[in-house]
Amino acid sequence: MRKYKNKWLLILIVFALLGSCGSKTESSEKEADISVDTVPESENLNQETTETTSQTSTTALASTTTTLLTSTTTTSTTTEAPINEEAVLSASYQWGPSEETKILQTVLNLEVDGWYGEATQAAHLQELETRGLNLDNVPSAPTTTTTQSPYPIGLQDPSACYLTSPGGSIHLGYSRPADRLPSTGSVEAVVLFADFQDVAANQTTEEVFSIISPGGESFFNDQSYGRLQLSFRPHHEWLRLSGPSTTYKEAIKTFDAHRDFLQEAMDLADASVDFTGADAVLVVSTPNATEIGYGPTFMGGSWGPDAYLSADGMAITNGVTSGADLTYWGDLWYPHEMGHSLGLPDLYDSGIPGRAGFTRPFSLMDDIGSTAPGYMGYSRWILRWLDDSQVACVADDTDVMVTPIENAGGLKIAVVPVSTSKALVVESRRAIGYDGSLSQEGAVAYYVNIDRSTQNHHGRGLGQGPMEVLNNAQALLVGGTVTYENITVTVLESGAGGDLVRIEVAD
Ligand SMILES: [Zn+2]
Repeated sequence: MRKYKNKWLLILIVFALLGSCGSKTESSEKEADISVDTVPESENLNQETTETTSQTSTTALASTTTTLLTSTTTTSTTTEAPINEEAVLSASYQWGPSEETKILQTVLNLEVDGWYGEATQAAHLQELETRGLNLDNVPSAPTTTTTQSPYPIGLQDPSACYLTSPGGSIHLGYSRPADRLPSTGSVEAVVLFADFQDVAANQTTEEVFSIISPGGESFFNDQSYGRLQLSFRPHHEWLRLSGPSTTYKEAIKTFDAHRDFLQEAMDLADASVDFTGADAVLVVSTPNATEIGYGPTFMGGSWGPDAYLSADGMAITNGVTSGADLTYWGDLWYPHEMGHSLGLPDLYDSGIPGRAGFTRPFSLMDDIGSTAPGYMGYSRWILRWLDDSQVACVADDTDVMVTPIENAGGLKIAVVPVSTSKALVVESRRAIGYDGSLSQEGAVAYYVNIDRSTQNHHGRGLGQGPMEVLNNAQALLVGGTVTYENITVTVLESGAGGDLVRIEVAD
């Protein structure tokens, strides 16, 4: 086994985030001393203008009521009532439309439209000066009438809802971690098949591959609304690794040994496989090697030659190996592991009394075998599968209609920032597609917490997860309400088109 030469260079080599999400699983994680900078991705701000609802912010100007007429309230020019012209000229007016302005315009011999604008102001000033009267009550054009908020009442620019990246190999901040897979466009994974000195494969590689594909590709195509195209490049040959399966059972528990496991298979295949252009490597262990119970994700980095996989001049920082549980989980096993390769953390192992996970039944990052394994809407947003225009970033009390996350298009999530590391999110879940077995449809409210000092990320202990569905992980029905921090969410209406939710933000 190779050893780190530069152990001090490594931070959060988060590894062994397990594919099998149950009580039998464990996870291990390796941390080192310095931060790996994340690479902020371009912020998708140009989308915002497409969703704007023009709204003019009006400025309330002080309006002083003044008795303008000496003997009548009519403004008709045909009445005979005398007008106290000096009182009219000296009165206060509001910029824009008013009944009082009609009388002023009559005195000024202007066209009477009741609109105090620049023409009325000019004539007003001239007449006051001519008569030697005080100019103090002449209104000015309010400067704020030209300022328009592009967002409906209670909403703000979606960038105000970006959670600040905490750095590291995986997290739920808006900027994606360095060295993880691209989340849009094409991702190519070379697939190798391995058996062991003591366990020869008893199926064809094609049979085993059929567990993974085409289910894996289909899942990402669906979840990303067509934005991520996963393709596998399988090399259909059993590669015999040099040691017994028990060696590899141990290898998956540490970063170095797991990397060597992957690299050994790559080296065996290198003569006949071109790794050029590969984004990731998946080494499928023959499922009858029962010693290898699960298959974790390798999260390498670009900080040193011992940090990544290499072949054909490629430095590959994302890899996964499978275990015997592949046959149990089926075609959503790889999408869970690849979720880590995309930078998403696990959501199981919550430590909440009565709950095994933070979000289940929602998200396969919690439970691959759940009734609604679709990725959470927030995760889809930070993976750029949702545009900013599909996010309502809430600033104040407002009503938001969120449409089912399972269907493409429309407003998908309401996000209420609590801090730069915490937000409340609401989305709509329906028994559609991959979520087809969901028993309780409705609005799902959850918080996202990227502050590791309060996160229960591996091995429990801190009490809060990186994400947690509120209301005891149940969807909210009409009339249902939940409060988190200073935010209260109430479902007003619900139907096939989604959920109308009222969001109240207390001061
Ligand atoms: Zn995992």
